[in-house]
Amino acid sequence: MQQIKVRELLKSKETGKEFMVKGWVRTRRGNKNINFIALNDGSIIHNIQVVAEVANFPEETLKLVNTGACIMVKGILVESPAAGQPVELQAKEIHVYGSAEPETYPLQKKGHSLEFLREIAHLRPRTNTFGAVLRIRHAMAFAVHQYFNDNGFYYIHAPIITGSDAEGAGAMFRVTTLDASKPPLKPDGTVDFAEDFFGKETNLTVSGQLEAELAALALSLVYTFGPTFRAENSNTPRHLAEFWMIEPEMAFFDINDNMDLAEDFVKYLVKYALDNCLDDLEFLNKMYDNELIDRLRQIVENKFIRLTYTEAITILKSSGQTWEFPVDWGTDLQSEHERYLVEKHFGKPVILTDYPKEIKAFYMKQNSDGKTVRAMDVLFPKIGEIIGGSQREENYDSLLSRIRELNIPEKDIWWYLETRKFGTAPHSGFGLGFERLILFVTGMANIRDVIPFPRTPKNAEF
Ligand code: ATP
Ligand code: MN
Repeated sequence: MQQIKVRELLKSKETGKEFMVKGWVRTRRGNKNINFIALNDGSIIHNIQVVAEVANFPEETLKLVNTGACIMVKGILVESPAAGQPVELQAKEIHVYGSAEPETYPLQKKGHSLEFLREIAHLRPRTNTFGAVLRIRHAMAFAVHQYFNDNGFYYIHAPIITGSDAEGAGAMFRVTTLDASKPPLKPDGTVDFAEDFFGKETNLTVSGQLEAELAALALSLVYTFGPTFRAENSNTPRHLAEFWMIEPEMAFFDINDNMDLAEDFVKYLVKYALDNCLDDLEFLNKMYDNELIDRLRQIVENKFIRLTYTEAITILKSSGQTWEFPVDWGTDLQSEHERYLVEKHFGKPVILTDYPKEIKAFYMKQNSDGKTVRAMDVLFPKIGEIIGGSQREENYDSLLSRIRELNIPEKDIWWYLETRKFGTAPHSGFGLGFERLILFVTGMANIRDVIPFPRTPKNAEF
């Protein structure tokens, strides 16, 4: 007999037929005559109820069917007399693959705090919450590829180990095979990376953008979707040391095309979640955030506000709010400012453009005012910045002079400059932090709860 997933079984109309399910026991209750086993196999948030007549099974078997145990059940599908479930399974055969001692199984009881669950990241996928989050995360990754494939983009795999330290998006993790206790030294006492594995200093990438640009200047529409690493000590609910980023890069797109794509893309993803993950969203809406589904619908239905950084500063300065970080033209916006604009002032997502060049990366296209660059940040309720992007500087001379102004070593970035020397083209792109998207879509409050094994300062247990 073939195994059927709980998700399919709950939809089945074939009562009277025998089925086989395999999964993990959520609860077993009942009396000395009859037991009710709630079984979940991760295919859906709901459990199948298994009804076992105690007399039909050896005592040793049912004793092992405790919360957390893994079992196989063969039984007859019947209409359920109980409310809230269409069908249940009348057990004929039960096999226990693995028991779970009630005295020591950490998920014996319901209602553990998310903080506690972080300490048992090896077991938390078995909770309803993480089942829901992980299924939504999967659906979003799938939808990312679906969207780009449908729109003529090619998936590019940017390297994870990089020899370029040019982007300056954040502090990097060094990749080395040198002996940390006695590295080879140069005469001046600094580490001699010529002796290292790659013959130079290498690090984990902070972004796949520069490589995506190289590919876009050949394939026109490309995207990367891979892990990125930042060694910043930012212990916030929105930062990870290892996170996934989606970075589309488009030849012949200006900043307006870039904003249109970003808006269309995130709306597609949110709509995909509403259309395909409603069971899980309803669970999260009920358990964590009563406004979640409304908020997702609002994203899909509203046009994003677009305004310049300069206009935003005017609004923030005349808001009458007191800020933890004061605002003035030239300062970087903090999450509190971003969220004020989105949640209080406009009540809609906001795309801010034309930031001061000093607070943005060297590759952004310079405006004719000499002060600002064609950057765009997409700001979301509850999250703040979810996307950062720009039109790229495609003019060789302007790019080179900015690189020199910022003292970026040309020897590290000659290959990037060459794309502006040979067949340069106007182009644009952005980066969407995948976990920030999942935070938004699930309504979870902490980024550690939307990735299976979070990497944060002082934490890499699993
Ligand atoms: P922030 O200002 O929020 O720290 P950033 O401006 O440094 O972000 P970018 O370099 O623009 O981030 O990266 C692009 C996107 O990647 C961001 O818009 C965000 O969604 C995501 N992101 C950046 N840093 C992190 C991080 N440490 N953890 C998770 N996601 C991140
Ligand atoms: Mn940014």
